Amino acid sequence: MRQENIRLPRDAMWLLQTLHAAGYSAYVVGGCVRDSLLGRQPGDWDICTSARPDQMRSLFADQQLILTGEKHGTVGVVLHGKPYEITTYRLDGTYRDHRHPDKVCFVQDLAADLARRDFTINAMAYAPGEGIVDLHGGRKDLAAGIIRCVGNPTARFAEDALRILRALRFAARLNFTLEAETEAAALAAKDTLQTVSAERIYAELDGLLAAPGAGHTLAQYGEILSGAVPEIAACIGCTQPGRWHCYDVWQHTAAAVAALDARGQDTRGARVLCWATFLHDIAKPLCRSVGPDGAAHFKGHNQRGAVLARTILRRLKAPSYLIDGAVGLIGIHDAPLPTGDAAILKCLNRYGAIFLRRLCALKYADLDAHAHTPEVASRRQDVATFEIRMAELAKTGCYTMRQLAVNGADLMEAGLPAGPAVGRLLHELLGAVMEGRVPNDRKSLLLEARILTAGEEKIK
Ligand code: ATP
Ligand code: MG
Repeated sequence: MRQENIRLPRDAMWLLQTLHAAGYSAYVVGGCVRDSLLGRQPGDWDICTSARPDQMRSLFADQQLILTGEKHGTVGVVLHGKPYEITTYRLDGTYRDHRHPDKVCFVQDLAADLARRDFTINAMAYAPGEGIVDLHGGRKDLAAGIIRCVGNPTARFAEDALRILRALRFAARLNFTLEAETEAAALAAKDTLQTVSAERIYAELDGLLAAPGAGHTLAQYGEILSGAVPEIAACIGCTQPGRWHCYDVWQHTAAAVAALDARGQDTRGARVLCWATFLHDIAKPLCRSVGPDGAAHFKGHNQRGAVLARTILRRLKAPSYLIDGAVGLIGIHDAPLPTGDAAILKCLNRYGAIFLRRLCALKYADLDAHAHTPEVASRRQDVATFEIRMAELAKTGCYTMRQLAVNGADLMEAGLPAGPAVGRLLHELLGAVMEGRVPNDRKSLLLEARILTAGEEKIK
């Protein structure tokens, strides 16, 4: 943390040197300084400079340029295939809609540019020779693990409500907490998140849920988050008396998100699982009843949760793979898993191995956020037993028409008339194989086909 020298990539260094040599001031700024000070590898190296876009264009005329952000002062320079964003020092003008500055205004001064940035940890700049420029106490807050707005938090969130979610995303990414005034202002302004576009809210929430500290951030800042997803509010404080649970619905959700282990899933699977875990119990408050024994029941919360999750994800304009994937999981997340090879093969036939692997991951996360009792441990063991056998059968078993040792042509060759009856018969044969009544080899299947059709003829 004390290191003052940041190792710049060669190309970023060249850009700064070129700008300096032409008489402009220039710094790397924002996330790359923050991440470097934390000893993390920065994703992008953003640069800010006193040069205006037209001046950058002529200075870097020999390079491939990206000019889509020019109006806002940003020129992209592509070096060795990697784009670097260079932005003129600017002030963001007034914000009429909590999100878009009505206009940006270029300035000559780094200090003004740093003052417009969202959080102290994101408002530091660095240039070789000069060192770190930290006018808002970013280093101190980095060391203390604090997200603090630059300037007055109420005013900063009023300018741009998305910053509320950015604060939570950085908290989840870095395992930081919100400084008290920043937190209070975020809470007070949470409902202004409704003015932010769905795409941006989705992107921030997605980043938050993917972050290592997501569960902890959800647990701490549920109320603030309810500004983005109002359905959360009813989960907070929705108690679950009985022998299964030790948390209310919201704290259980947060604990499940923390417990989720998406290792071994592909990228989409991991995204689907984060959201499915986040929303798996979202309909519990709608389904809550308390039995005569004082225990809470949530009958129908799988199906109603699926419906509600679809509504929420559509509202957030989530991609369709994610909506379908998460909703499918939520709809059966609490249903018992089958035992026995026949039932597992039918389950594989209906849902596929990828879905079932995800379902197991969701179930582990869910169960790990229950009370630690022998009953819960035994349910977890049931999931593990299912997962192992399911994975074996997915490799070796026959559970799709394609894997059947005969196809429609074989059946017709053996004398069955063409038509829908062929499909029906294949279906029955697959059922017989999955149930273990007929081995999956050509001879046995053709024999079974003959028996089945002879039976049909008799019935006719
Ligand atoms: P990441 O690693 O997630 O990209 P980052 O800090 O680089 O983190 P960006 O969204 O790329 O975040 O933004 C770059 C910089 O621009 C930030 O560090 C911050 O200084 C500033 N910034 C971005 N969005 C805002 C905003 N909504 N309000 C104020 N400043 C912002
Ligand atoms: Mg960035």
